[in-house]
Amino acid sequence: MKPFAYTRATEERAAIQTVASNTEAKFIAGGTNLLDLMKEGVTQPSQLVDITRLPLAQVEVISGGVRIGAMAKNSDVANNQLIKERYPLLSEAFLAGASPQLRNMASVGGNLLQRTRCYYFYDTSMPCNKREPGSGCAAIEGYNRIHAILGASDKCIATHPSDMCVALAALDATIRVQGANGIRTIPIAEFHRLPGDTPEIDTVLQQGELIVSVDLPDSPFARRSHYLKVRDRASYAFALVSVAAALDIDNDTIKAARIAMGGVAHKPWRSLEAEKILVGAKPNEETFTAAATAIVQEAKPQKYNKFKVEMAKRAIVRALTTVGEMA
Ligand SMILES: Cc1cc2nc3c(=O)[nH]c(=O)nc-3n(C[C@H](O)[C@H](O)[C@H](O)COP(=O)(O)OP(=O)(O)OC[C@H]3O[C@@H](n4cnc5c(N)ncnc54)[C@H](O)[C@@H]3O)c2cc1C
Ligand code: SF4
Repeated sequence: MKPFAYTRATEERAAIQTVASNTEAKFIAGGTNLLDLMKEGVTQPSQLVDITRLPLAQVEVISGGVRIGAMAKNSDVANNQLIKERYPLLSEAFLAGASPQLRNMASVGGNLLQRTRCYYFYDTSMPCNKREPGSGCAAIEGYNRIHAILGASDKCIATHPSDMCVALAALDATIRVQGANGIRTIPIAEFHRLPGDTPEIDTVLQQGELIVSVDLPDSPFARRSHYLKVRDRASYAFALVSVAAALDIDNDTIKAARIAMGGVAHKPWRSLEAEKILVGAKPNEETFTAAATAIVQEAKPQKYNKFKVEMAKRAIVRALTTVGEMA
């Protein structure tokens, strides 16, 4: 591992200044992704700024919603009473991710920025445009069972691995970011990027910007929502396909709907088109199948992940059926 300098931050401004002024510096939170990447030689920062002591771990009510500090642990947010009551979808998504030990270390900010689990990205002997721009993509001609079926490019077909982010996409979260010149807010839909010609850039975050919180707007979906994760093992596995589904039903008619998917694209995949199909319709199998079909009709699978198209369709119908049957 390349030698690196380590400092522990006690206040935000100095931490931001340090990382903003050195392109080889990084914040470190729980370290559950960053340290793995450093051990594999995928990333080699010259300086780490530990942000675990910054006072950013609160979950609190704010005007119009709830604010989750970027340093809040995944397990603490999942078990927080406010989150369980108002955003059970988010709690479910957290509990579907990783293992209890990892959730006790992993922070909300780090979860937003965790990198793809494409195996060629972690294997430095293989070409990978995300790790080394211009070197090629080993997955396109290789074993691409876990890769994207939506929104990919001919430069990269990786998927975004987070469960939390899929729920955040369905809940219309906003990411608050502190930079050297002040705070900016980024809707979750704009935070992660599709790969295009620059798959090495995962998000719109600039060097030195610190995620300070995730804000959730008040939501009508507390009663009827569900996170469905389909994976190779019952726990401790990333999603092959996941669905965050939420419905607001009144008088046997869908008043509002949200669908976001994980495991299928380079970012959490929210489908406004499918939501439009659901709104105003009856919550039944025909409606749910029409929404699912609308999502997967744009799918462009690879040689080894064609199964994901049907799996995604069935998962959407199953998640919506579960939500539709909730009292
Ligand atoms: C074996 C294993 C299984 C897993 N399974 C799942 C799973 O099923 N589902 C799932 O969603 N996740 C899973 N994870 C991923 C895990 O959730 C992430 O590793 C974790 O959320 C990252 O959080 P962290 O605080 O440890 O981040 P770190 O590793 O400390 O940091 C990750 C990145 O975020 C940056 N960063 C961290 N905080 C901030 C901030 N506030 N502002 C700006 N930049 C910041 C760091 O510089 C780094 O680039 C798994 C991980 C492992 C190792
Ligand atoms: S899919 Fe993306 S991350 Fe995986 S090898 Fe290709 S370029 Fe790299």
